[in-house]
Amino acid sequence: MQTQILGLVTPLMSLFFAATFMVLWRVGRLKRHVLGFAFAYILSAIGFLITHFLPTNAFYTFHATQVFYAAASIILVAAVCERAGQRIHLTSFLAVYLITALVLAVAIIFSNDVGSRLIIVNTGYGVMFAMGLTTLLTAPRRTVVDLAIIALIAYQAIDFFVRPNLTLLFEQSIPSEVYRDSIYYSMIGLGLGVKGVTTAMVLIGATIAEWTTALRESSERDALTGLHNRGSFEQSMRNLLPRAQTEGRPLSLVVADIDHFKQVNDIWGHQAGDQALAGFGELIGKMVRGCDVAGRIGGEEFCIAVYNCENDPAERLAERIRQAFARLEHAGLNDDIRLTSSFGVATAREGETYEHLFSRADEALYRAKARGRDRVENAETQRLEEPQSDAHPPKMELQRAAAE
Ligand code: GH3
Ligand code: MG
Ligand code: MG
Repeated sequence: MQTQILGLVTPLMSLFFAATFMVLWRVGRLKRHVLGFAFAYILSAIGFLITHFLPTNAFYTFHATQVFYAAASIILVAAVCERAGQRIHLTSFLAVYLITALVLAVAIIFSNDVGSRLIIVNTGYGVMFAMGLTTLLTAPRRTVVDLAIIALIAYQAIDFFVRPNLTLLFEQSIPSEVYRDSIYYSMIGLGLGVKGVTTAMVLIGATIAEWTTALRESSERDALTGLHNRGSFEQSMRNLLPRAQTEGRPLSLVVADIDHFKQVNDIWGHQAGDQALAGFGELIGKMVRGCDVAGRIGGEEFCIAVYNCENDPAERLAERIRQAFARLEHAGLNDDIRLTSSFGVATAREGETYEHLFSRADEALYRAKARGRDRVENAETQRLEEPQSDAHPPKMELQRAAAE
């Protein structure tokens, strides 16, 4: 009776962890690998219950347990790999399962000793975790949490390879009738309990870390464009400026503003304006590099911190964005309508503050507006031409096009 009750502790604990992962996934709107952790725990709970309640000497008990443990192992490994941005080779995992299931079937036919069965199935799980480990090691990211998960998977692999062999060293053979009274059986109760808790703790920690990162990122993002919002952009600039100085790298700032945007709202409505803004944001996001920071700092004003970039290439980047935007179609506007944008570019001087750098780039943008819009002006190479009068044709074009 005591053994019966104790045997329920591990499956109940597994179901509790599964419920925890489900809640975290749902409430935190987290990615599906968290749901994978929940399913792995549900499947292993079923596996525990089968081991505990089905007759050990029945030929089907080991096969039934193996199906659930193997599925739990595959889902857990796939989930941690997906979390790290890697995919498992599912066919290889299924092949490992089938081979061990076949060898297990042969062992059950020819021997009543549970020891050989345990070594066969556990070696199969060990191989699966070892395969997962090699996949995880190819992932580019290496945060502390990633390292903890790598260590966890390595621990699982070693445990599956070593534990059955070690325990059976003390117990030579275990006839299936006395399996539940064996040292091994009490050892797996303890071993799986400890492993289940350790795994859950690491994975719950990793999930909470992901949740807080997602929350922080969403508070730093502009909802319409997905770029950094003003506060986050300014914070990034305040970090990047001293870093660029210590590393001796150039840092350029591009300020962009959509031309006659008020007209877009007035003619086609605010929603169409929002779509155009989202289009501009998406374009900028696609055209900058991973080390650059792009943000929407005001209504239709955008900024790009171009890291490790001299003034000339930063001006060329602005020019490429200007040309691409001028070709972009906008869903909410008439088919033949194209919008334009103006840009100001400046490159940080030694010891320059963000405010000063921004004001120089913004002045250049102002000049671009004054010189007719749809152009890039550079704070470092001020042209001496007379500013042109504020060019009305684009505005009139928008109104004429809307009337057609
Ligand atoms: P200019 O070429 O001189 O930049 O002219 P403009 O009309 O683009 O400039 P202005 O700064 O006068 O107008 C910006 C407009 O952007 C005003 C406001 O209606 C619009 N706007 C600001 N934020 C949003 C937004 O989130 N969505 C939409 N649809 N419009 C916005
Ligand atoms: Mg504007
Ligand atoms: Mg503006």
